[in-house]
Amino acid sequence: MKKIFRVFLLLIGLLLFIGWVVMTFFPESIVPFMLQQQLKRQLAQVEKNNQLLEDRENIYVYTVGTSAPLPGERAQTGTAIIVNGHFFMFDVGDGVVRKAENMGLPLNRLDGIFITHWHSDHFMDLSSMVSRSWLLGRSNNLHLYGPDGTDSINQSIKGYLHMENKHRLDHHGPDIMDMSIVHAIPHEFKNVQNSKAVIYQQDGITITTFDVDHYPIEPAVGYAIEYKGKKVVISGDTKKNNLVLEMAKDADLLLHEIILNSLLQEMEATVAKQGLTRNAKIIHDIQDYHTPPAEVAEIAAKANVKKLILHHYAPAPDFRVIKNLYKKELTGYDGPIVFANDGDLFIVK
Ligand SMILES: [Zn+2]
Ligand SMILES: [Zn+2]
Repeated sequence: MKKIFRVFLLLIGLLLFIGWVVMTFFPESIVPFMLQQQLKRQLAQVEKNNQLLEDRENIYVYTVGTSAPLPGERAQTGTAIIVNGHFFMFDVGDGVVRKAENMGLPLNRLDGIFITHWHSDHFMDLSSMVSRSWLLGRSNNLHLYGPDGTDSINQSIKGYLHMENKHRLDHHGPDIMDMSIVHAIPHEFKNVQNSKAVIYQQDGITITTFDVDHYPIEPAVGYAIEYKGKKVVISGDTKKNNLVLEMAKDADLLLHEIILNSLLQEMEATVAKQGLTRNAKIIHDIQDYHTPPAEVAEIAAKANVKKLILHHYAPAPDFRVIKNLYKKELTGYDGPIVFANDGDLFIVK
């Protein structure tokens, strides 16, 4: 028995050695195999995406980026939704395009981007998303929905990407690089002050925007996505808000932002003691326009949501102590609470 084991180990060692020799001295010999495997993986991903896009029942929700503008591994805010043949993004903060691409999401099928407000952590990757989806072969129109400011930002993106688009066109030609769909088509809605408005209604999908309270940042909105009696609500950046509560009534998923003010107050005091007055002032200011855990839980409970998804954390719950601090304050809601990570998928059936 011992002998068989020794022979087995020897064989493994020999195989590893041969592998090392081939990779080190004859790397070109494994290129065809490597490329084939890579292509196989990509085709499998395309196949999987096609299946999702052909699904006529479920809503697929991906938390692509889950962070607020604090340093860390997470991408800033961005949520992808695939529903009834459509692929939408809700916010595209810094890092969201790269994350979405690494996740294998079908950027070439993206047909709608919805922005909640013009804080950079919600739209810094917008030009990149418009450009990248086109470069990856988007052949459909891309629509951009957002509150006041959408038209002018879309116009700026056109100018910003002008040279890039020209280079691609000159290099690959108009058959490959279809300039008629390169830019997003803007749909700016006037600020729905203290109210809501249906801004998208197609193929049984209804998307409603609603005003939230991120004062002094105005406009700022959230979105509710409804399809076949299923409902997903994205709060956007806001203090505890009655319209979020109203829109989230009986929702399958509520994606809500969250801020741990109890920790930030300590942070503010510590930083101030060190004489870092600018930092202390910023930490102080951000505490009054987001929602602390107890109030997020209160909204979820009152709205009777089926599942509460937390994202856009300040700070991210990447250390156990911070996560436990959040948990301690998240009282009053009996349903499931998920601390979303980048790349998580939630299926509403
Ligand atoms: Zn934000
Ligand atoms: Zn904000």
